[in-house]
Amino acid sequence: MSDWYCDELLSGRTTVEKVFEDDGVVAFWHTRPYYAHHVVVTPRRHVDSLLDCDAGTLASIFEVVRAVAGQLAADYGGAHIVTNLGKYQESKHFHVHVGADDEGATA
Ligand SMILES: [Zn+2]
Repeated sequence: MSDWYCDELLSGRTTVEKVFEDDGVVAFWHTRPYYAHHVVVTPRRHVDSLLDCDAGTLASIFEVVRAVAGQLAADYGGAHIVTNLGKYQESKHFHVHVGADDEGATA
């Protein structure tokens, strides 16, 4: 089962540009962004997906999602907040995409 987060990010094998981190949460600029401005927020502790996430972890993840999304919305006029499940989830470690396109762009 593919888990880029445990295998690459949290192991330190792949270096990322972090936006925020604490004991429980890491937020970083996506290494292969599909929004012009694209941050990923993920728990340090392995959680398979949103469906497996306990309430405390969910709250700490979404505190960071809210802060990042608020900044992107202020800078670029809005934000996408996306998490994938099942066949749509490429890496089986819970993560939330927070992205924005450049101001004025339509999508
Ligand atoms: Zn993992």
